[in-house]
Amino acid sequence: MLVGAHLSVSSGYPATVEYAIEAGCECMQVFGKSPRQWKGKALDPEAAAGFVQSRKQAGLGPLFTHTAYLINLATDAEPIRSRSIEALADEMGRGRLLGAAGVVLHIGHDPHEDSPAAAVRVASGIVAAFEACGCSHPDTKLLLENTATRGFGSGMDDFAAVFTALPLEVRELVGVCFDTCHGFAAGIELGSSAAWETLLDDIERACGPGSLGLIHANDCKFEFGSHRDRHEWIGKGFLKDEAFEAMLCVDRLESVCAVTEMPGDIPDKDVVNIAKLKELREECSR
Ligand SMILES: [Zn+2]
Ligand SMILES: [Zn+2]
Repeated sequence: MLVGAHLSVSSGYPATVEYAIEAGCECMQVFGKSPRQWKGKALDPEAAAGFVQSRKQAGLGPLFTHTAYLINLATDAEPIRSRSIEALADEMGRGRLLGAAGVVLHIGHDPHEDSPAAAVRVASGIVAAFEACGCSHPDTKLLLENTATRGFGSGMDDFAAVFTALPLEVRELVGVCFDTCHGFAAGIELGSSAAWETLLDDIERACGPGSLGLIHANDCKFEFGSHRDRHEWIGKGFLKDEAFEAMLCVDRLESVCAVTEMPGDIPDKDVVNIAKLKELREECSR
């Protein structure tokens, strides 16, 4: 596996690349724009191209972007739904410009506790966003992220329902981002290699082979099945070292990226957690 972290781009792209190298990133995630706003300043194509180029020169692996938290394709409430579609189209365009391998989107919150209907809304919202964007490209996938909360989006059944509702040509452009803290909080076992094999089988069955595009490697502050989303440093939470060592040593995850999204101060939160993941990865070959 390649390991990295979610990084801030607030000091500009050149500073982000420098920081990524210092922190030991092999891959990274950034926000495509401010995560708490519907609209953002347009990306400067030249700056975006410079970012792509400097990452390449530095030998950094894939980049992922994370979309705004406001987007919710699982709701039917207006104007949130139309705004979400518009915002996702914009985020896909940004991801494409930044050379992102994946654009991460929370699968969404269903206000009606009717998961099958929510899944159909998510699928049709994705189709509408791709149409509005006109930027579909197989190298920049949309990655749906699992949730820690009860109900829609916490298990692979809901992912399967979304993928089934997607037309084939769109399905090929969509994958999964699995967050370990969210999964554990939602009651998915991750503590052994057997548990990881089961999860990866479930993801493949639900969303297709090769659909897992990214892992958010976060330890969890609260216990198994708590449905509470509070990230903890690797090895310091209830997932402990074992879950991450198992993850890092699974053969079929060899080319997959794992990024941490940690609370705390920079650079420690990134330097320490990336080093920790690399240390656990070292254990595999022993
Ligand atoms: Zn997320
Ligand atoms: Zn989280």
